[in-house]
Amino acid sequence: MDNPSKQKSSLAIHPGENQPPAVNTRAISDFRKRGRKKYSVEEFIEGILSGNRTILSRAITLVESSLPADQEKALEIVEKCWSHAGQSIRVGITGVPGVGKSTFIEALGKYVIQQGHRLAVLAIDPSSKRSKGSILGDKTRMERLAADPCAYIRPSPSGGTLGGVARKTRETMILCEAAGYDVVFIETVGVGQSETAVHSMTDYFLLLMLPGAGDELQGIKRGIMEMADGIAITKADGNNIERALLAKQQLENALHLFPVPDSGVPPLIIPCSAIENKGISEIWDAILHFISATRQNGYFKEKRKQQNIEALYDSLFDDLRHLLLRHPALSNQIKQAEQEVMQNKISGYAAARRLLSFLQAFLHANLPEE
Ligand code: GDP
Repeated sequence: MDNPSKQKSSLAIHPGENQPPAVNTRAISDFRKRGRKKYSVEEFIEGILSGNRTILSRAITLVESSLPADQEKALEIVEKCWSHAGQSIRVGITGVPGVGKSTFIEALGKYVIQQGHRLAVLAIDPSSKRSKGSILGDKTRMERLAADPCAYIRPSPSGGTLGGVARKTRETMILCEAAGYDVVFIETVGVGQSETAVHSMTDYFLLLMLPGAGDELQGIKRGIMEMADGIAITKADGNNIERALLAKQQLENALHLFPVPDSGVPPLIIPCSAIENKGISEIWDAILHFISATRQNGYFKEKRKQQNIEALYDSLFDDLRHLLLRHPALSNQIKQAEQEVMQNKISGYAAARRLLSFLQAFLHANLPEE
């Protein structure tokens, strides 16, 4: 129990005077604002071309932003970097979760850097929108590689349609190439359409498979096997070696049934161990061989041309989508249709048809006739 007379004694704790905060919050906020300096497009270009990683990251953040002002600026930056890009070797890497992608990318990445290259690792992760997390994007992956000054690792842009994410990854790749990264890995997890997106922006598509082919062959879709320019059988170490060799044989037999690929270079199947660093240099040699053979037979150039066309459509449809959703008159119509569909007043198909008629009438009224 407190004794009131004691409280009045000179030992009572005096509440003291109000003190100013120990840190000057205003100065910190000013400092932060200064730290997030707004670069002009010219400053961005200069920074990227000189290989400044901070500026490169800031430019990629603009590419990934959904704010119209940021997008406009990003477009200008990408456009200006375009003529400095395109010189890298672009490798797509895919495989089911747990196949050993990040361990493999670290091992191959380290090797590629030892060969004198600068490496950018990007990712397309279709899971990030749905799960709000991602299978690929967590920060603890590839720590050793991330610490290497010759490597630049950027997790998957999140949200949006696959086409939108693909577009952002393409634009990020252009910025990385302009910043002097002459090898780009684009990683994706082996679930569905994201492989097609990665295939459509890379020169060489590498499929990682687990040893013990019998079962895995069932799990990997034939279409993905057909897209592969090479297959690495991972974890070929310890007790797995025999199984990996067997898998190699079975895969070779299976691939014999496939038509000769358009590249003219039959895919190699290479067992490897990222942990024991085995088979890694062979895989890089196979990639280099593929690039030089397809450069000679014209496939490389043709594929890049096709990819540019695909980039055009990805960008066009992505822009159209935003344009439609943001346009005040149209977005009101869309919202109204959404309500009606929710209330079961109209089917989704009929609502879409009505919106299209509205759009056609709108275009007719606003675009000059040819
Ligand atoms: P990811 O999900 O495809 O990125 O796979 P990770 O790289 O995270 O690897 C999944 C598991 O396989 C981890 O426990 C790794 O330690 C293991 N792993 C990866 N590469 C190898 C390898 O070369 N040999 C063996 N024995 N295990 C490996």
